[in-house]
Amino acid sequence: MAADLKVDLCVIGAGSAGLSVASAAAQFGASTVLIERGNMGGECLNTGCVPSKALLAAAKAAHAVRTTGCFGVDAAPPTVDFGRVHRHVRDVIAAIAPHDSVERFENLVVQVIRAEARFVGPREIRYYEDIGLIRPPERRENRYRTYGETDVQTLRFIYRARNLGFSLKDISALLTLYQDRERASREVKHLALEHVSELDRKIAELTAIRNAIADLAERCHGDDRPDCPILDELGATAH
Ligand SMILES: Cc1cc2nc3c(=O)[nH]c(=O)nc-3n(C[C@H](O)[C@H](O)[C@H](O)COP(=O)(O)OP(=O)(O)OC[C@H]3O[C@@H](n4cnc5c(N)ncnc54)[C@H](O)[C@@H]3O)c2cc1C
Repeated sequence: MAADLKVDLCVIGAGSAGLSVASAAAQFGASTVLIERGNMGGECLNTGCVPSKALLAAAKAAHAVRTTGCFGVDAAPPTVDFGRVHRHVRDVIAAIAPHDSVERFENLVVQVIRAEARFVGPREIRYYEDIGLIRPPERRENRYRTYGETDVQTLRFIYRARNLGFSLKDISALLTLYQDRERASREVKHLALEHVSELDRKIAELTAIRNAIADLAERCHGDDRPDCPILDELGATAH
């Protein structure tokens, strides 16, 4: 879904930093949108501060039992059931999670969007316009460009295709096929398979380079002596 969001503040990431900023901004009355692609609470709640301190608390408890002797109190050595320790860690996270939750932030009148945020620079968009990947946008009275849902969808398409390593020429062909309801899927498959062959060729090339370097590294003693087949190879005048 594409929609124009007109807000005072857009916060990317619902970790400790983003949550604090979004919560403060909303409480100051700023209209705020918070975008999170993963778990609300970020590192601190899910994999950092909270689980590590919960784990340390369990470790401290075991240590306290092991060292009661110094108080003149004898106790049997503790047995640690890691499954239950793990459950304790998950319970601690679950107890704090509501504080960082979508619901809490929506109650603070923050609009929470669960998605990956991405910036697209004007130069990138202009370039796509110049090479005909996207149509020139309509202009408002103040001459500002206005992009509609179709343009945003096209930009997403280009972004995903680029992430898969397709060239701009291929992307242009794929976009034409995407927009053509009468297309034959064989043409799309043909393009995809050509791209797979190109990737295979690059993988073979990189594998050969990797093996050549690994072989040189294998032959290098890697000690205090100066002899080094890697540098000899790089410095060779001719083959
Ligand atoms: C084991 C461990 C223990 C720690 N213990 C402590 C401690 O005791 N005390 C302490 O102060 N600190 C501790 N830290 C550090 C603490 O976790 C971090 O400093 C803190 O989480 C950083 O918060 P942040 O909001 O900057 O980033 P993060 O928590 O990493 O949050 C960033 C969020 O942004 C989201 N995001 C990123 N890019 C995008 C995008 N393009 N679109 C949408 N969402 C996006 C990510 O999914 C993530 O949720 C610990 C860290 C670790 C690893």
